[in-house]
Amino acid sequence: MKKLLLIGAGHAHAQVLAAFAQAPVPGVQITVVSPSALAPYSGMVPGWLAGTYAFEDICIDFAALARAAGARLVIDEVQAVDAAARTVHLASGAGLGWDLLSLNVGSTLLPPQGLPGQVLSLRPLGRLRAAWDELLASQARGGAPITRVLAVGGGAAGVEALLAVLARLRALRPGLAIAGELVTRGELLPALAPGAVRAARAALQRAGVEIRTGTDFDAQRVPAGSLLLWATGAQAHAWQRGSGLAVSERGFFQVNRQLQSLHHPDVFAVGDCAEWSPPLPKAGVFAVRMGPVLATNLRAALSDAPLRDYTPQHGFLVLLATADGHALASRGRWSLHGRWLGRWVWRWKDHIDRSFLARFQVPPGG
Ligand SMILES: Cc1cc2nc3c(=O)[nH]c(=O)nc-3n(C[C@H](O)[C@H](O)[C@H](O)COP(=O)(O)OP(=O)(O)OC[C@H]3O[C@@H](n4cnc5c(N)ncnc54)[C@H](O)[C@@H]3O)c2cc1C
Repeated sequence: MKKLLLIGAGHAHAQVLAAFAQAPVPGVQITVVSPSALAPYSGMVPGWLAGTYAFEDICIDFAALARAAGARLVIDEVQAVDAAARTVHLASGAGLGWDLLSLNVGSTLLPPQGLPGQVLSLRPLGRLRAAWDELLASQARGGAPITRVLAVGGGAAGVEALLAVLARLRALRPGLAIAGELVTRGELLPALAPGAVRAARAALQRAGVEIRTGTDFDAQRVPAGSLLLWATGAQAHAWQRGSGLAVSERGFFQVNRQLQSLHHPDVFAVGDCAEWSPPLPKAGVFAVRMGPVLATNLRAALSDAPLRDYTPQHGFLVLLATADGHALASRGRWSLHGRWLGRWVWRWKDHIDRSFLARFQVPPGG
């Protein structure tokens, strides 16, 4: 019996399990490791922050998916990978071996220690959930008021999350004046079309957000009562470096065209945790598109068949929700936004996101 070990409940592994549930691979013992059975879909995280969706509505149920694929789900977290010994070490102290390993563990954010005020880091998502729920509960109880939300980072996640958090907190405490601020070292939304950037800037201004581009975050300038929204660029997990697997300068797993770790054909890595050459943006669309290739290649590797190449797409559609019933769309230099179109784009985004999650719904008893 060969051992296939899937680490992380990422977008690509959801597709691997769905594919294996449809067409089982005989003679293989599949184990999935994830810190929780519910894996949030990042595209809907801002909608959950805004209160549009319940947390359960934005998640893929990996327990059901694993069951359908005949896999064992282990609720735990990898702390170290030893490629030479073909073993992963878990937070619980247990060790798991593999014949074939696949890593889809996303990326993380490491805010500096000792930041002033309350801090909400957008990653890891499991910790974000706990921190946001706790903060909302304290605000609902009338706890120490938040009078300013300051987002650090000017990418799509930072902008969406800032608008969502402001909308939710203002709705929760309507009598309170809550200021908004966004600080970014670079430009605002550098990957978006110029029209989309203008529309996002206008949405931020309508929400009363002061935008400071080309500015480093200065912890000394954070007033009391602030909530810091940490949304800087994706970082690799610290344990990736000590794994014995090839990593890039930034610490992400380097992979070849077939998504295998360089020099370790028994290990695959996909999504944010992997580094393609040249590097791809850390966006869920790439993890999603890698999924079917990964499923095919894991199946092929288990039977010593030839592997398929993954070809990254050129450019991708960004749908950015502005927490006011509108969204904007951007691809290349093309964009869609505005009072009426923006409403339609929001409904379109909602439909795309819900349809993606529906692909992983396992019927009861399935
Ligand atoms: C607020 C926000 C909004 C975003 N919106 C979009 C969007 O609209 N469109 C878009 O394309 N991109 C978006 N992104 C980027 C997107 O989140 C990532 O690029 C995408 O999630 C990467 O997918 P993944 O499958 O690699 O990893 P993930 O979806 O992050 O999954 C990683 C999984 O690994 C698990 N894991 C992590 N560490 C361990 C460990 N040590 N042991 C075991 N399991 C572990 C995690 O719990 C998780 O289940 C957004 C990001 C954020 C923060």
